[in-house]
Amino acid sequence: MALINENYLKLPGSYLFTEIARRVTAYKEQNKTANIIRLGIGDVTRPLPAAVIEAMHKAVDEMAQAETFRGYGPEQGYEFLIKAIIEKDYAPRGIILNEDEVFISDGSKSDVGNIQEIFGCDNTVAITDPVYPVYLDTNVMAGRSGELGADGKFPGIVYLPCTAENDFKPALPETKVDLIYLCCPNNPTGTALPKAELKKWVDYAKKNGSVILFDAAYEAYIREPEIPHSIYEVEGAKDVAIEFRSFSKLAGFTGTRCAYTVVPKSVMAITKGGKSYPLNQLWNRRQNTKFNGAPYIIQRGAEAVYSAAGKEQVNALVEYYMTNAKIIREGLASIGLEVYGGVNAPYIWLKTPNNMDSWAFFDKLLTEVNIVGTPGTGFGPSGAGYFRLTAFGNRENTEEAITRIKTKLSL
Ligand SMILES: *Cc1c(COP(=O)(O)O)cnc(C)c1O
Repeated sequence: MALINENYLKLPGSYLFTEIARRVTAYKEQNKTANIIRLGIGDVTRPLPAAVIEAMHKAVDEMAQAETFRGYGPEQGYEFLIKAIIEKDYAPRGIILNEDEVFISDGSKSDVGNIQEIFGCDNTVAITDPVYPVYLDTNVMAGRSGELGADGKFPGIVYLPCTAENDFKPALPETKVDLIYLCCPNNPTGTALPKAELKKWVDYAKKNGSVILFDAAYEAYIREPEIPHSIYEVEGAKDVAIEFRSFSKLAGFTGTRCAYTVVPKSVMAITKGGKSYPLNQLWNRRQNTKFNGAPYIIQRGAEAVYSAAGKEQVNALVEYYMTNAKIIREGLASIGLEVYGGVNAPYIWLKTPNNMDSWAFFDKLLTEVNIVGTPGTGFGPSGAGYFRLTAFGNRENTEEAITRIKTKLSL
């Protein structure tokens, strides 16, 4: 008989969004006319910008002619998109990248999930808690975690708690870790780390030979000028950090799929024998073997994000969601709720009133005001007693949701 990868059995069964769907369905069966507003899942709702649509239409037409048809493209992505990224996202911030340090993909979820493959199984992994669950789950699958303990934690993983007590800023680990996942601006807490905080991590990584895996999926939502948009704005980061960015939350590509990962050639890791290798070489080899490139049509759409019209349309899109974030944040604060995030990220993270359990608060919001959010525990043990609302809804629903919470929720 074929044997399974038993690491998969270590993952806890019931998935967060399945349980949410189950509770919403059960409530709807009892309350058929309830008008439920969903501010739970982290997916966008606005259509793609016109410039993106136009570019993709044009690319579709190219595919119809033998002269302009494209088959397999470069696994690393087309030069036109890589150049646009380097010139428009990085050069203006004083970050110089080579074309072979940028890898285009079909999404950051794949990249942040796959990156651990190029590292040895014996590495110690640190993750901030709470956080996007992909970092943890992919390391569990790879065998770096051990069995889930009664405390809800895996013994092989170093958890870095982020709570109101430390202002959602992770403390440096007390033990030596090899891989560090940072998500900034953070999903779910909405926290963005200033340069001085990031510098601590870069210095730690330099001192300990660690690699930082920096997920910047929400970079476009940063509003405060003192927050770096790239970890490479921090001195020395090009020697220790890999950065992930996505067109999903930036330009509505969640269903269209395009992202990129920056692996500077100066980021190194070693063999057990102590020989150094650039991670760029390993990631390139991995992509060449297992990935056949993001679709040409989609990469042309992503390129259009950098055109003058595209840029303006994307800014308007981000602004739309950030206005929602402001409505949620200020609305909840006005009734005395403790709210975080929503300033440099489309997520509002709130402390449940009266130390209520995350799932109890979920049920309360659902039954009293028909609003669906996400219990904080779904993002890690330190999410207990917190709750996430997203700014990705449409304006009308967002306003209606806040009115309901302000007028009908019993606190
Ligand atoms: C949405 C999200 C991503 C990326 O998504 P893709 O659509 O796969 O590019 C990556 N990281 C975080 C933290 C996210 O919330």
